[in-house]
Amino acid sequence: MQNPKVILYFIDGLGIGTRNENNPLANIENIEPLAHFQNEKSNLIYDGVLVPTDACLGVEGRPQSASGQTTILTGINAPQILGHHKQGFPNQKLRDVIAENSIFLQLKNLKIEPNLFANAYTKQYFETHYLRWKSATTCAVEAAEMSFRMIPDLLGGFAVFHDFTNEFLRERGIDVPILSAAEAGKNLAKLVESNRFTLYEHFLTDKIGHEQDFEWAKRHLPDLAEMIRTVLQNINLETTTFILTSDHGNIEDLSVRNHTLNKVPTIIWGRKRHEIAKNINDLSDITPAIISLLKK
Ligand SMILES: [Zn+2]
Repeated sequence: MQNPKVILYFIDGLGIGTRNENNPLANIENIEPLAHFQNEKSNLIYDGVLVPTDACLGVEGRPQSASGQTTILTGINAPQILGHHKQGFPNQKLRDVIAENSIFLQLKNLKIEPNLFANAYTKQYFETHYLRWKSATTCAVEAAEMSFRMIPDLLGGFAVFHDFTNEFLRERGIDVPILSAAEAGKNLAKLVESNRFTLYEHFLTDKIGHEQDFEWAKRHLPDLAEMIRTVLQNINLETTTFILTSDHGNIEDLSVRNHTLNKVPTIIWGRKRHEIAKNINDLSDITPAIISLLKK
């Protein structure tokens, strides 16, 4: 058998809410497999398994990105270490947790390679934003001394931008072609097939939630769903496990600007999905699950 592979498709700010007029997931067509509701059974495409996953991690307050993402990418309960949920970008304490426990570092130490963070970075990011705005994912890649994918990689189909269509890059004057959701999905699928572990990060969902922008949700969610379906169509689910998860709820309730306390959907497709689903309760279970899938 071929070496097993994993993709972690991380979506910022996607929770499991209730069916009402404030939940775009309940009011937009063609967004399978993104829409899940409390106390409702989900029938998932490609026989996926849904695990409603706790993002609060036993710490009071609304779950936040820096601590949630650190937890997902390390398997360490970061809010518990800090005593609170941390917004935005990791502070030094969280950077230290990631430097020691990054999933990329754990895989490297086990000699499970090659691995990839599929998101493309711009030169401008490293020139101007890097020191102030260093995401948990950026720290996780650096912990294993891996290289970042840049715009030339994107042009060659070897990276995907966080918005996946490249519209945000074009707006900033960077000369790249606009991709359809399906084209971006095919590119990501190719990367998944040529690496052991691939991470992709998408955070416009969280931005839409903070802006409470129903119209944007209406335009964006069907594309995001199509991108995910295209990846699923173009990878070998006999040998690959596709894990989708989020750091906290947000977009599922546009009546509030804040994150929600809702559970997040962890969805698992492909190889060993049922086995893995049994071991996931909260965000700290994601990294151990990935390691167990890839370890001999
Ligand atoms: Zn947020």
